[in-house]
Amino acid sequence: MIVIFCAPSGSGKSTIVHHLLEKFHDLEFSISATSRPPRGKEQDGVDYYFISADDFRQKIKAGEFVEYEEVYGGRLYGTLKSEIERIEKNGHHVIFDIDVKGGINLKRIFGDDALSVFIAPPSIDELRRRLVGRNTDAPEMIEERLAKAHIEMEDAPQFDVIIVNDNLNDALKESEMLVDNFIHAKK
Ligand code: 5GP
Repeated sequence: MIVIFCAPSGSGKSTIVHHLLEKFHDLEFSISATSRPPRGKEQDGVDYYFISADDFRQKIKAGEFVEYEEVYGGRLYGTLKSEIERIEKNGHHVIFDIDVKGGINLKRIFGDDALSVFIAPPSIDELRRRLVGRNTDAPEMIEERLAKAHIEMEDAPQFDVIIVNDNLNDALKESEMLVDNFIHAKK
């Protein structure tokens, strides 16, 4: 089974995904490949496979990606086929934390084997406050993320479920119930 979490950045998606990984030990995080450099404490092979843009483009040519996107200003992000195979070999379900377009593509590929969830911020103003508060991006990057968030919100209805994260505890509980029902009840 495949669980896909998408959201404009700053919506609390990563917090929710981490919570689910702690809760369900038969769920494993799909580590994406990216051409962007590591941020903060990020580690290669844990948060992402950090590879060069050249490497990334070679892998695209070789057909090694299930999906990929050029997300911000030439930065490439994608899911390697080998990553899904690795998780399947472990006998685990896969959880994705990817951008909205990527999520829609994956849902198209995996159909009923996938649950797609859109985490929405309560508002764009609140999203701005959160992005400024987490203090990891330059002001121009924040504006870029907000502009993208506007566009991404329009795609929310294409997801199986929308969760509005105005209260993190509620959003965590709701996500937990949804994922539990999906991966453990539907066989
Ligand atoms: P960040 O640079 O903040 O880690 O990620 C930027 C965006 O890229 C986020 O929306 C994240 O979910 C998305 N992303 C991460 N991995 C993938 C992937 O494999 N495919 C796609 N399409 N987007 C991804």
